[in-house]
Amino acid sequence: CGVVGYVGAGQAAPVLIDGLQRLEYRGYDSAGIAVVDNGRISSSKEVGRLVNLEQVLERNPVRGCCGIGHTRWATHGAPSQANSHPHFSSDGAVSVVHNGIIENYAELRDELLAQGHTFLSQTDTEVIPHLIEQFLRDGAESPEVAFRCALQKLRGAYALGVLFQTEPDTVYCARSGSPLIIGLGKDENFIASDVPAIINRISEAIYLNDGEMAALRADRVEVSTIDGQPVSPDIKPITFEA
Ligand code: GLU
Repeated sequence: CGVVGYVGAGQAAPVLIDGLQRLEYRGYDSAGIAVVDNGRISSSKEVGRLVNLEQVLERNPVRGCCGIGHTRWATHGAPSQANSHPHFSSDGAVSVVHNGIIENYAELRDELLAQGHTFLSQTDTEVIPHLIEQFLRDGAESPEVAFRCALQKLRGAYALGVLFQTEPDTVYCARSGSPLIIGLGKDENFIASDVPAIINRISEAIYLNDGEMAALRADRVEVSTIDGQPVSPDIKPITFEA
């Protein structure tokens, strides 16, 4: 299972697929990506090998310079197209990939059902985009604030990548218990579960700590705690030995 993300000047989809291939050693049962472009999120997901997803993407490419990708190792809900990530909010404007387990998902889902949300999967993950959407509906002043409020309600383990239709130049991420790194490139930035996913593309990385989140744009990365305190991250050199 793995999470990847990209924001820069290039097309996101090939970078995401390449990163997921490099994380194949971690095992998975399905894979998917979401890319935001022109005020719209497009996504594609398939059960089985990554090559299945690649074939679909060849026929129906998703274009855009900002995206997230996932290989899933099912914990809640069978391996199926509906349970594959990315998962979406009811209005399709928030997209989430997740490695880990949300322990309090059943309570959160009950609250969200009572607020009128409908769910399309059996995963624990799907509560996350709906929870973010609910905070936006309740007047959160920005996507970042809605994401932070949602994180404060989650119990369990996660590495998350999040895209917002209204913020097409930003990838958000957060970590608690599951590994996640931020790769720094020249006018492009990345997230990944592990360094090998992006080692050929970066020379520096930030190892996100548990309880931290970040907003990545092509030209900058802002790290903060889930409680909202800014963090000056340690930037570590990465050496690539071919
Ligand atoms: N718990 C989530 C699911 O079953 C994420 C699994 C994973 O880490 O790939 O969909």
